[in-house]
Amino acid sequence: MALSTHKRGAHHHQPPAAALHHHPEALMPLRSLADHGLGEQTSYELISSELLLDGQARLNLATFVTTWMPSLAGRLMDETADKNIIDKDEYPQTAAIEERCVNILAELWHADPEEQATGCSTTGSSEAAMLCGLALKWRWRERMRAAGKPADKPNLVTGANVQVCWEKFMRYWDVEPRLVPMEGERYHLSAAEAVARCDENTIGVVGVLGSTFDGSYEPIAEIAAALDDLQARTGLDVPLHVDGASGGFVAPFLQPAIEWDFRIPRVQSINASGHKYGLVYPGVGWAVWRNQAALPKDLIFDVNYLGGHMPTFALNFSRPGSEVIAQYFMFSSLGREGYRRVLQNAQDVALRLSSGIEQMGPYRLLSRGDELPVFAFTLKDGVENYTVFDVSDRLRQRGWLVPAYTFPENLEELSVLRIVVRAGMTLDMADTLLEQLREETGELQSLDGPLPRTKRGAVEGFRH
Ligand SMILES: *Cc1c(COP(=O)(O)O)cnc(C)c1O
Repeated sequence: MALSTHKRGAHHHQPPAAALHHHPEALMPLRSLADHGLGEQTSYELISSELLLDGQARLNLATFVTTWMPSLAGRLMDETADKNIIDKDEYPQTAAIEERCVNILAELWHADPEEQATGCSTTGSSEAAMLCGLALKWRWRERMRAAGKPADKPNLVTGANVQVCWEKFMRYWDVEPRLVPMEGERYHLSAAEAVARCDENTIGVVGVLGSTFDGSYEPIAEIAAALDDLQARTGLDVPLHVDGASGGFVAPFLQPAIEWDFRIPRVQSINASGHKYGLVYPGVGWAVWRNQAALPKDLIFDVNYLGGHMPTFALNFSRPGSEVIAQYFMFSSLGREGYRRVLQNAQDVALRLSSGIEQMGPYRLLSRGDELPVFAFTLKDGVENYTVFDVSDRLRQRGWLVPAYTFPENLEELSVLRIVVRAGMTLDMADTLLEQLREETGELQSLDGPLPRTKRGAVEGFRH
């Protein structure tokens, strides 16, 4: 906790209104609930002022998560914050809207209507990953039992660049991680490396459409083809899941020709974050399975709740319906062309930034932002007096949050800066950022000796 520790009860001698001119944290309950509340107005003023200390969301180039929605979406979310999405019987229209969203996504991801794709909303891709991972584990166990083999050593194959939710899945559900390390200039999973780690205990391979490290797409079609070949050679039938947390909402609009989705028979399930390029405020994700066979029946609970029978598959029970409604609002208001336009803008900004940064001289691009509108860059060999961490600090002083982080095992020596371009970043803002980065870089270049090192240079890998 970085906040100062004012003594509890310090406000007892002050009427709240006068106290507003003092430090807000002196008034607020910090460690225990006060006997008497401050009242709505004062609490609102104090909390809203305290939150001014948070960074500017629009200048936050670190996060993938939506920081801007149209004000009408905010209004709709306010109106629906009191609907619990699990009360499907009470709120049948909310339930119907969730179903429409699943259908829209299944169609967007080219599910075959004959196959009857099935899916649900979640709190984000993390919950969706847990559900899709569980489905893989259950199916594997059925396969092993049917073959009369032990089912106690499941493993999952992914790249080492995989988002932390998959490492959580593997630890929480006792699945051995088989993480393919990065190598040289390969920053994500390759087909050959994935297949080399598969055996009869492999519950599945997870391919990532849009690596968080550099925004690149893993070669899903190649991985699928290599797994087809593995099956032809050995009989091993290893399912493929696509983590499309970001790319699930980008590729269909910007790179429709790339085959990564249910067009590929081996792809059994897909997750995506509605609150990333789905353009909704945080709290919504999606999981879709290609057909009923991909989702084992004994994972589905038939909940008899408040008078209705509802099949559900979720880790959570209660949560606000407003998130799903906001997703539907975006689908409805933007349509395909709207999503394409918003994402194309983000991509144009990303490309403008990456080429501007490349031309500055000391930087080398790891990616350009032509897959996800996200790219990573590092300092060229020979830059000795400062690091990417110094660049990140300098930009932070100007208000921009551009994180610097080291790569995982095998490439720990590589430290990069990453920029995530989201809806709401304009070409004008990009030009301002380029100008300020150019100035800061110029100053760092003119140092006549190395900057003193702090411990920050050794921070651990950045994960979101
Ligand atoms: C963000 C992200 C996740 C986790 O998603 P949440 O919606 O934040 O839970 C998983 N995988 C990838 C590739 C991501 O980018």
